Amino acid sequence: MISNTMQEQVKNSSVIRAMFEEGKRLAGIHGVENVFDFSLGNPNVEPPKEVKNAILEVINTGNSMGIHGYMNNSGYEDVRAAIAKSINDKFSTAFTQNNIIMTVGAAGGLNVIFKTLLNPGDEVITFAPFFGEYRNYVKNFGGELVIITPNTINFQPNLEEFKEKITPRTKAVIINSPNNPTGVIYSEATIIKLSEILNEKQKEFGTDIYLVSDEPYRELAYDNAEVPYLSKYYENTIIGYSFSKSLSLPGERIGYLVIPDQVADYEDIISAANIANRILGFVNAPSLFQRVVAKCLDAKVDIATYNRNRELLYKGLSSYGYQCIKPEGAFYMFVKTPIENDVEFCNLAKQKNILLVPGTVFGCPGYVRIAYCVAYYKIEKALPGFKALIEDVK
Ligand code: PLP
Repeated sequence: MISNTMQEQVKNSSVIRAMFEEGKRLAGIHGVENVFDFSLGNPNVEPPKEVKNAILEVINTGNSMGIHGYMNNSGYEDVRAAIAKSINDKFSTAFTQNNIIMTVGAAGGLNVIFKTLLNPGDEVITFAPFFGEYRNYVKNFGGELVIITPNTINFQPNLEEFKEKITPRTKAVIINSPNNPTGVIYSEATIIKLSEILNEKQKEFGTDIYLVSDEPYRELAYDNAEVPYLSKYYENTIIGYSFSKSLSLPGERIGYLVIPDQVADYEDIISAANIANRILGFVNAPSLFQRVVAKCLDAKVDIATYNRNRELLYKGLSSYGYQCIKPEGAFYMFVKTPIENDVEFCNLAKQKNILLVPGTVFGCPGYVRIAYCVAYYKIEKALPGFKALIEDVK
């Protein structure tokens, strides 16, 4: 018999799983080219050429124990040093290898940091709409996820409500910008205000509140939009980065945490996170890919491909009367459903072979997420279906 917690978690993950099964079923009937699966955030853009070159270079020139062996649980020192230098060059920070822990993607990093920080009953605040997995990551360590209701005007965080929901049990706040599912980038003004509130509340309660910045989409920002580097605004910031999207390597499971010297209890946190990486069973981030990403720190996927998709989809949907904010980053569009019930709308879309994820999964009913990391022709072919959908329900 599986555990009670897992029973609940299996039940809750059924929406996306059901979508995945449905996609396979529909593809079997109609052919893959006629099914428009916008449900998964799996990059369709090739990794940059530097990745393949780096893999070959590492394999051909490294000594195999240096490539495939165990190392310090935090990762290779030279890799961490190269990452620290690259961040410093880009954001004028002053990190060293001692601030970096290599992780098994952003998901691994977030689990490491919550294991490090949370006591049962500790609260972690997030802003809807949010990446639904946060529910699991927080629950894994007995924490409680406190959800701030969405600001559907522009999808910047609702800071009024945030201020009221911070309590002496608030251990952390997790934010994600560019955001999954909206594509919105939290503005500098938002970050400054958010930091002010956190500083006020830390003072009021005499606590430390860690701001965890989940950044898998940092490099996917359109029109040269700025994504503020949060440790420059708020001292108790911990950054979770991932190469899953920036280099199109989601299956390789590689990312890192940045734990700046300035965070409260830095020494304890860095050594506990190192041990958490081990005892959660990750042991260390994949060794070959640590070496590979260290050689690709200036490489990026071709964001122009996503941008073309964004323009086509946004233009098409807006012209049919759908309401949505034009995404500034990532590869998701969050669209208001023309009927109130988002789950029902997804079911209607399925009848046109269009697979979407209901906003409910992200804590924001009445919307759907469209992952436009798909072939351009799929969007072209799906647009008439979107048009018919809104006409059907009018
Ligand atoms: N955080 C957000 C907001 C995501 O969208 C994802 C993946 O889609 C993750 C974390 C997990 O990323 P990774 O593949 O690096 O574990």
